Amino acid sequence: MTEVKAELVGSVWKITSKPGDQVAEEAVLLILESMKMEIEVTAPRGHREGDPGQGDGRGQRGPGAGRARMTKPAQLLLEHQRLVERERGLRDNIERANARLESDPEVVALEETLAAARAAQEAASALVRELDHEREAHGTKLRAREKELMSGRIRSPSELLQMSEEVKHMKERFAEEEDAEMKLMEDADAADQAVRDATTQLEEARKQSAAEEPEIRSELATWTAELAEVEAERDAIWEQVPPATQGAYSRMRVRPAVAQVINNQCSACHVTVTSSGMQKLRAGDELVLCENCGRILVRD
Ligand SMILES: [Zn+2]
Repeated sequence: MTEVKAELVGSVWKITSKPGDQVAEEAVLLILESMKMEIEVTAPRGHREGDPGQGDGRGQRGPGAGRARMTKPAQLLLEHQRLVERERGLRDNIERANARLESDPEVVALEETLAAARAAQEAASALVRELDHEREAHGTKLRAREKELMSGRIRSPSELLQMSEEVKHMKERFAEEEDAEMKLMEDADAADQAVRDATTQLEEARKQSAAEEPEIRSELATWTAELAEVEAERDAIWEQVPPATQGAYSRMRVRPAVAQVINNQCSACHVTVTSSGMQKLRAGDELVLCENCGRILVRD
């Protein structure tokens, strides 16, 4: 009979082996749950297993506090690090949601589009008015000249010729101005249409934005509640970390400060952990740092 020790006090969540099972060394016998972590209890050596215990599993206490070892400090730090990351993610989400409730970037952009369209509309109609005045003045002058030309008061052929040339020239210019004004009026119509379109789009976006608000508020409430939970959990985990390890962790410059060892490699820098490092990790009594990047290593 081999005594199997749990790493910490927790509830038995799942029993993955039966009495009489042939198990290999390191095979998972059962899974404990503590602080929302799943902790595998593995066989210290290959063995025909005895009775893993009575009961249905869930809610059952693990081995007594006296027999169980504490969770390894590095494991606690890894969990702490995960909670800090989750906390950061939640804070980002909350900040974004609050900013979105304050103002919707899409609505703001369309407000700017509408303001620009209104300015363009104003400028286009000002141009039409300006050219219209000018053309009216030219028209009055042209009619006066024509009247003079037809009055019979001018007798000198050279003067008549000069005046008829002048009237011809004025008529041409008047026609050109009429064409130009038509073109400007088309531009003004297009500017009016742009204002109507921008107004419609803005109204739609405001409606859409308002319709999205309840969901954003509900998400915000969920995130805020989760944040409180994560913060409490983070603090509870931190309290379990021995003060010396807390100090070592806090002094570390590299972040994230904890890296898992996966396939004998530091998962942060991918440098292989030495066999003596792996031995120390297995023993689990002291903090093992990655020889390359200096992070605290945690066994996979
Ligand atoms: Zn490393």
